[in-house]
Amino acid sequence: MSGAVLLPGATGLNGSGQQTTLGVMGGGQLGRMFVQAAQAMGYFTVVLDPDVISPAGLVSHYHIQTDYLDQQGLAQLMQRCAAVTTEFENVPAPALVTLGAARPTAPSADAVAIAQDRIKEKAHLARSGVPVAPYAVIETATQLAAVADVLLPGILKTARLGYDGKGQVRCSSRAELSRAWDALKNVPCVLEQMLPLAAECSVIVARGWDGSVVHFAPQLNLHREGILAVTEAYAGNMPPALADQAVTAAENIATELNYVGVLCVEFFVLKTGSPECTAIGALVVNEMAPRPHNSGHYTLDACDVSQFDLQVRTLAGLPLTQPRQHSAAVMLNLLGDLWVDGATPRWDQVLALPGVHLHLYGKLKASKGRKMGHLTVTAATPEQARSTALVAASVLGIAPF
Ligand code: ATP
Ligand code: MG
Repeated sequence: MSGAVLLPGATGLNGSGQQTTLGVMGGGQLGRMFVQAAQAMGYFTVVLDPDVISPAGLVSHYHIQTDYLDQQGLAQLMQRCAAVTTEFENVPAPALVTLGAARPTAPSADAVAIAQDRIKEKAHLARSGVPVAPYAVIETATQLAAVADVLLPGILKTARLGYDGKGQVRCSSRAELSRAWDALKNVPCVLEQMLPLAAECSVIVARGWDGSVVHFAPQLNLHREGILAVTEAYAGNMPPALADQAVTAAENIATELNYVGVLCVEFFVLKTGSPECTAIGALVVNEMAPRPHNSGHYTLDACDVSQFDLQVRTLAGLPLTQPRQHSAAVMLNLLGDLWVDGATPRWDQVLALPGVHLHLYGKLKASKGRKMGHLTVTAATPEQARSTALVAASVLGIAPF
């Protein structure tokens, strides 16, 4: 179903006053921030997530605790809410098909199904006007044997269910590649050429039911061990020509997919002068996330409209306005590693610094690499944001960047 305008707050106050309710599949931190944005505007919220305790379930008006494909759970969700979104790309597409037949559902099952499968995804990304990394699909031993030499060294990535660098193995020889595919249980994969990265960036766009598109300027992202560690968002964080190219490509991808909702597209910037850069070009599109993205969390504190506000607006058929960033921002991810010895990080010391915004997701167990929260430093200038963020990082034991 396509979207109607779902006005927030209680409707029909002179009759049977009812709260407009928005639903989200998934109870992680992205769901939590969606719920908080929706509630701030006066919507009621419902979260479907199998866990008893989840970051979004904890703050939502309603929590339906069933599996994503549970027919009763889906029926309850449809009964409770006027429209449904999703907060992670591995929600089974059939669940979104069921929901989409009865309620405006954004993003659509089709768009999510493409993002869930690297093989389908690459085919779509390649139409954006920016190239993808040279790659080969590996579904059979014959395809494995036939990979071109240029793809090694490379990264073997499972076609499905990868996140935060999981389901990826770096291989420098054919023997390693073959062992890696066995280690990944011979599931469908893509082998990507290992590219010399100068930087990584991402672009977040939001597209409405009427086809209108707005975007945030590209964020510069630093990954450590395959996990986002730092995002720097301010004018001049990357060459303007590349930034424009990335925004156009992200808009093209959203339009091409007839996408509704918030979409993040990740890019690689190749080292200038490298043979790969000469052969492919400076900008390479890596992957897309059919939802708000970790690299866009700074928008909560540094922009007049956040990525979660835009997720609410797209879902509810409300107008999209072009976001304006009012502060330079640096975001640090707070991973479970900060709690390793059981001690609580010194939030008091960090909050003594100017422009620090602390976001913790309500998770009760910390483990290495688990996203527990994030911290955004806003400032009048990029230099101030960076220098304060470096102090915050050193207080918390996060490596400098
Ligand atoms: P996400 O959590 O963003 O969904 P993911 O597990 O799907 O991550 P990718 O984005 O494919 O993984 O890769 C994770 C990181 O590994 C990238 O951000 C980049 O730092 C590095 N990487 C991936 N592919 C390549 C490549 N072809 N060449 C060089 N580095 C790469
Ligand atoms: Mg990625």
